[in-house]
Amino acid sequence: MPKLKCLFVSTEVVPYAKTGGLADVAGALPKELVKQGLDVRVVMPYYRQVKEKINESECNLNLWYTVDLGWRTQGVDVYYDDSIVPTYFLKNDHYFHRDVLYGYDDDCERFAFFCRAVVELITRIDFVPDIIHCNDWQTGPIPLLIRDQYYWDTKYHNIKTVFTIHNMKYQGIFGEEALDLLGLNGGYSNSDKLEFNGGISFLKAGLIYADHINTVSPTYAEELKTQQYGCGMDSLIRESLYWKTSGILNGIDTDKYDPATDRHIYKNYSAKTLEDKAINKSEFRKEYGLKDDGSMLIGIISRLTDQKGFDLMKHVVDHQWFMDKLMSLNVQFVVLGTGEYEYENMFKHFKHLYGDRAGVFLDFNEGLAQKIYAACDVFLMPSEFEPCGLGQLMAMRYGAVPVVRQTGGLKDTVIHYNYMTKEGTGFEFTDYSGYWLFRKIEEAYDCYVNRPKDFHKIQLNGMTKQYGWAESATKYADLYKLIKG
Ligand code: ADP
Repeated sequence: MPKLKCLFVSTEVVPYAKTGGLADVAGALPKELVKQGLDVRVVMPYYRQVKEKINESECNLNLWYTVDLGWRTQGVDVYYDDSIVPTYFLKNDHYFHRDVLYGYDDDCERFAFFCRAVVELITRIDFVPDIIHCNDWQTGPIPLLIRDQYYWDTKYHNIKTVFTIHNMKYQGIFGEEALDLLGLNGGYSNSDKLEFNGGISFLKAGLIYADHINTVSPTYAEELKTQQYGCGMDSLIRESLYWKTSGILNGIDTDKYDPATDRHIYKNYSAKTLEDKAINKSEFRKEYGLKDDGSMLIGIISRLTDQKGFDLMKHVVDHQWFMDKLMSLNVQFVVLGTGEYEYENMFKHFKHLYGDRAGVFLDFNEGLAQKIYAACDVFLMPSEFEPCGLGQLMAMRYGAVPVVRQTGGLKDTVIHYNYMTKEGTGFEFTDYSGYWLFRKIEEAYDCYVNRPKDFHKIQLNGMTKQYGWAESATKYADLYKLIKG
């Protein structure tokens, strides 16, 4: 039987370019699907960051074509690297040779270009996929283009599309010029098509035109149908699209994130040699100037945005500021993250207040992230919402005990510890409040100080759980087969 062919489209992919969890998924899921016997190719933009990761002259396919974009015509150079999974890089320096991946005034044009270039790529390489798997708003128009613009071409006739929502908050909303760039007429600005809140939404294109929608955890798939989490798309999903919406939990790349082999950390360890985790903590403290005072080390590795729940650290708990109360315990904290000015400033201020009991790194640094997962005792993810979350999975794999809010994928992956049955992998709270965040950190602290055997058991429970992609990739493969028909 011929292999099922999938073109996996993502605007960030590990190890080439990463801003968050999407890149981890796009790096690991296709790899696992290939292992399971599918013919998968990945396609992404050729960013400036990619140049450092591939050998440009060896990877140049000498394939060039143009894409129509409104009144303009733009060129695409195709590069290809199959050292991990066969991956195409679509190069246009005007759009992608920039400092960061997203956040430019012309993002609409940049990703309209990318979507059109991906669809055009199919006729130029010897690979007509059964499935195009699109991810997040940047790729939302692809299912629409396949269905409404390219259908006349027999190569596109049988292609089915899957659209994965990694975060509903980012909806790619632009002005009417988006239609022109995508080659669509004014009829698409109706509310039953791409119109959303007075603009044109790339995400909505993916939702409406894909053959199947999924998101990255079963709980988030349900939450999206509610006003609280649906970001304005809830009624559309609840009333019109529920029949083609599902949730498949993310995994992590267990080869890359393995404390037994990780080259970034100070001393490798496993569940059997967990005592060596302490060496990572003390070496980390030495390197980054934190006091070696026997305290519990709390880690945070995150984008610093509203979603992640750090505003709770500004709350008042029992008539005291949250941080004053937290630091009255024998704890230290370390933060690695970049994002909104407000939170970067807040953590800078905490560093100023707590000196050598605080490590604050306003940076994006994967090696340092792995050192922190290995060094910390407790890992915080108090997210307001969390489609899946990978940080808590990495933390558990490295024996750090997660304290999380019970939402989305956090709810699906962290189990509150039960002192009676000795089951569970962390501590969870439900109400979005500084009070409950503090109470749960306090519970973890109490366990760390007064019930070390239980703390050890939680660490072991977390480290021995399965976080790989095998099971979820099988679910994706089954989904592809189902919609291919
Ligand atoms: P999101 O995708 O919403 O940012 P996830 O928890 O799904 O959150 O994934 C975040 C990924 O990005 C994890 O691999 C985490 O380790 C990594 N990460 C987040 N911030 C940083 C940072 N400042 N430096 C290095 N890695 C980071």
